[in-house]
Amino acid sequence: MTSGARHRFRGPSDLHLHSNHSDGTEAPAEVVRQAHAHGIRTLALTDHDRTTGWAEAGDAAVAHGMTFLPGIEFSAKHEWRSVHVLGYLFDPADPDLVAETERIRSDRVGRAERIVRSIGRDYDLVWADVVGQTTPDATVGRPHIADALVARGIVRDRTEAFEGILHPREGYYEPHYAPDPMTAVRLITRAGGVAVIAHPVTSRDRMLPLAYLERLIAAGLAGLEIDHRENTAAGKRLLRDFAATHDLIVTGSSDYHGSGKPNRPGENTTSDEMVARIIDRATGTAPRFG
Ligand code: AMP
Ligand code: FE
Ligand code: FE
Ligand code: ZN
Repeated sequence: MTSGARHRFRGPSDLHLHSNHSDGTEAPAEVVRQAHAHGIRTLALTDHDRTTGWAEAGDAAVAHGMTFLPGIEFSAKHEWRSVHVLGYLFDPADPDLVAETERIRSDRVGRAERIVRSIGRDYDLVWADVVGQTTPDATVGRPHIADALVARGIVRDRTEAFEGILHPREGYYEPHYAPDPMTAVRLITRAGGVAVIAHPVTSRDRMLPLAYLERLIAAGLAGLEIDHRENTAAGKRLLRDFAATHDLIVTGSSDYHGSGKPNRPGENTTSDEMVARIIDRATGTAPRFG
């Protein structure tokens, strides 16, 4: 293993955490503090479709003597499947990437308003309740609607909201605009970043066909987030073989959302070797070393 200036990081590394710039419940500095308290020494902030948390999280990480990798989690979809694409160390000012994340984020607002209007016909819920649960300009999603339902006393927590009112079978669900994963991978890669498919094999979403994953690899896809609590055991075995065949980067992460999900920082981690490969591959932004 190399130990040059570019690898001045230490593990354990957790490369998927959310702040209140999307649907985490804590400010970026608090996310970093929690990661540190759980023993993490290198982390990436990966808010949905948004990069505004990087500065605060990076400052906090440096203050804690940690390494910070700027990241994002792109909301994409392939046919009917929701697919999340993690991007690391890309240029946050890349015009094409900025335009696409803006498009996703603005469409998410109208979509959330439609969901709330629909729920409001049957429950005591209005849009202002949701606004009260988000920070200004946060990437709005169903988690914030869940928080508003909790505040109204309609459900106990986010989990109950997702299993009930927010589940598509209840009829209130609306889709939002999302690019194909191919577009997300290309945007991240062209912006100098490293693209990794988040939780690629959950029981919730049908896995992307392997032939399509191979096309994504040809378009620049660098890795798969295999160690994630929502991936199935059989799926992890299959994808570990696939990753070895294609020499992919394999990551493990918590997908921490503060109190919004049970996931704890460091419950899955990424090896030093794989973190080094991500850093070596990226050209868009440098990590911040504490
Ligand atoms: P959306 O993108 O607005 O459709 O909402 C999906 C987001 O909700 C995902 O990114 C997850 O972070 C979050 N989510 C999904 N299921 C749950 C759950 N059971 N409890 C809490 N958050 C969830
Ligand atoms: Fe989320
Ligand atoms: Fe995700
Ligand atoms: Zn996530």
